Amino acid sequence: AKVWKIKAMFHGEPKEDDLELVEEDLPDLKEGEMLIKALYLSVDPYTRPFVSDRAKVGDTMIGEQIARVIESKNSQHPVGTIVRTHAGWRTHTVTSKLTRHMPELGDLPLSTALGVVGMPGMAGYFGFLELCKPTEGETVLVNTASGAVGSVVGQIAKIKKCKVIGFAGTEEKCQWLRELGFDYAYNYKTVKLHEALKEAAPEGIDCYFDNVGGEFTTTVLEHMKTFGRISVCGTISGYNATEQPKGISPFPTILFKQLSVQGFIISGKWLDRYPEGEKQMAQWIKEGKIKYRETVTEGIENMYTAFQGLFKGTNIGKAIIKC
Ligand code: NDP
Repeated sequence: AKVWKIKAMFHGEPKEDDLELVEEDLPDLKEGEMLIKALYLSVDPYTRPFVSDRAKVGDTMIGEQIARVIESKNSQHPVGTIVRTHAGWRTHTVTSKLTRHMPELGDLPLSTALGVVGMPGMAGYFGFLELCKPTEGETVLVNTASGAVGSVVGQIAKIKKCKVIGFAGTEEKCQWLRELGFDYAYNYKTVKLHEALKEAAPEGIDCYFDNVGGEFTTTVLEHMKTFGRISVCGTISGYNATEQPKGISPFPTILFKQLSVQGFIISGKWLDRYPEGEKQMAQWIKEGKIKYRETVTEGIENMYTAFQGLFKGTNIGKAIIKC
């Protein structure tokens, strides 16, 4: 098996030398085990803070994959079965347990089980609907809006007949957001955030789905309406930070505007409701109400480049490695 291992703990931006791709021998199968071969590996931002918080040198990089069973001593998963599991950044794995069920994809490609019908799609679906509780006519703001989660949130907000404002890091991404029906799409690298929000949301924001945190969020808070709702999904602007940001506390604004702010970890909170979210996402895709893109990179040897791309913004939609 080819396996990506942690060679040095990340400090600041992950460096290529912090990881290494090694060859690993696999054990013979025991009763109940299967050998799975990765077809698609998921490239996710959360793996960056995971390394700082919970991993150690020598560990395999964590991550979800879609794989095919190529040898089996497990009667529930015969050879040929397609599975989804957190085997990490590796091509072949001997395992007896799978961490996730495979969603019903119908005609959709297998890779969507890592993206729009997978964990990021579920984060967008439940994290937005359950925590922001959007209603018709409300104003919704989402950042990393052309990404795997953000693009789902913005389109669901349109389905719910909201006014949708998206922020992304390139003009090409903003163009795609407009094609998706976003009412406003801004390149946060070139606009003044206050000015953009005064233009797009002169009466304020009802729902803020935050993937970024940091200064961006400090500014957005000033534009929230009283009783606004904030779903805190990610804080990617701080994932490579080497020290905690100092500065203004958001709590006075949260207090005086009586905002509801809630963070969530999708797999910890709504895992039991995945089938419901998967069914709805697949249905909306079929009806043309949700569109999706994937940035697919060939070959496990390019995993680091795809991972680094998340922080450079090279992906549009879900970042995936095809093995
Ligand atoms: P994306 O597909 O959105 O890819 C990451 C994108 O983030 C990049 O393309 C880039 O787009 C943007 N970005 C990178 N650095 C910055 C920065 N400093 N400031 C602003 N934008 C930045 O990834 P996902 O959709 O998978 O994840 C989006 C967020 O959701 C992440 O914060 C992630 O950790 C979080 N998440 C949380 C989950 C949960 O359960 N809470 C589940 C899944 C994801 P651009 O060009 O627009 O800058």
